[in-house]
Amino acid sequence: MTIDEKILIFFLNAVGSNVGMNAPITRPYRRIATEEGWMTPEMAAMYRTALQDGSIDDPGFRSLWGFFAGSTSERAATLYRRIQDLDDERLRDMDALGIDMQLLMLTAPGVQCFDAATGTALARSTNDTLAATVRRHPTRFAGMAAVAPQAPQEAAKEAERAVRELGLRGVVINSHTQGEYLDDPKYWDIFAAVEALGVPLYIHPNTPSPQMIEPFLPRALDAAIFGFACETGLHVLRLIVAGVFDRFPRLQLVLGHLGEGLPYWLYRIDFMHAGIVRANRSPGAKPLQRKPSDVLRQNVHYTTSGMCWEPAVMYVHGLMGADRVMYAMDYPYQVVADEVTAMDALPLSPADKAAFFAGNAQRVFGIAPGPVLTEGKP
Ligand code: MN
Repeated sequence: MTIDEKILIFFLNAVGSNVGMNAPITRPYRRIATEEGWMTPEMAAMYRTALQDGSIDDPGFRSLWGFFAGSTSERAATLYRRIQDLDDERLRDMDALGIDMQLLMLTAPGVQCFDAATGTALARSTNDTLAATVRRHPTRFAGMAAVAPQAPQEAAKEAERAVRELGLRGVVINSHTQGEYLDDPKYWDIFAAVEALGVPLYIHPNTPSPQMIEPFLPRALDAAIFGFACETGLHVLRLIVAGVFDRFPRLQLVLGHLGEGLPYWLYRIDFMHAGIVRANRSPGAKPLQRKPSDVLRQNVHYTTSGMCWEPAVMYVHGLMGADRVMYAMDYPYQVVADEVTAMDALPLSPADKAAFFAGNAQRVFGIAPGPVLTEGKP
């Protein structure tokens, strides 16, 4: 940094702190956070009821939401309040954090833990609520559609309605649905609908499926600390190895948490998958038209939710490309006051930084360009 730049930054910081909202906002890009959670008070009540009456017996759901519902901690209270607010408190937090726009998605497990009829109805009603929220604050919010995979044809129809009629920007599915994975062809109508709509499918984490969660539980490793990544990384690998991207080559996924660990594994996944296919080890691991790493480079985008740590961001950015990595915070689960200024300081070119914070999200999710609204150090 030159002396002139240091003086300029000192001056801008001084102006920003003294004049506050009246200071000119000089940041050359807006910041879109692309994996931000919300839920309705109705859903919070349904989760509490299901915990009490045992109607949802998924051990991951009971572990995580039992903790949130039963905790008297400040963290749990703040989280419940923030996640249900779609107006004043959330907008104030976004202003304070330097987030111009949030891409909202119904928090995990969303509607996927209910029976098919309840899940389908809840997907529709929450998508309507989300669309109304976006209409109230069109420069601050965009939204992803919830669907209930437990009724696959209904889920495909709801994806079409939510994108075409409500203007939602893609579809989110929270990994396993009651222990089942989307590589089962009974779910592929959902992929067909999403591919035809030309919108992305966000595979957001869920707690590990009932089949795999047991060793995570005694040490509280089942959720965001590690279990989410094991569950969700496994899910996406299952989709790739099952040939989903041979069948739907234009399907684009989005993965949070810098790809749930998968980018670190590319070399070994390719090496071992080739060997598994050559040895004809399993009827479930067929030859693919492309290497798994090609699919992870060509059919997946990566957001930084909860992983805003320069070495990891730069690794995935270098590996997957400047047009495939996007900023996300994971509000309200991981709210870090100086996170965006740390990401402002990434060693990226101005063009790549603008793509990281806004341009890629605008292209991938079809979000209209918009103004820089919040403070934040230039
Ligand atoms: Mn999240």
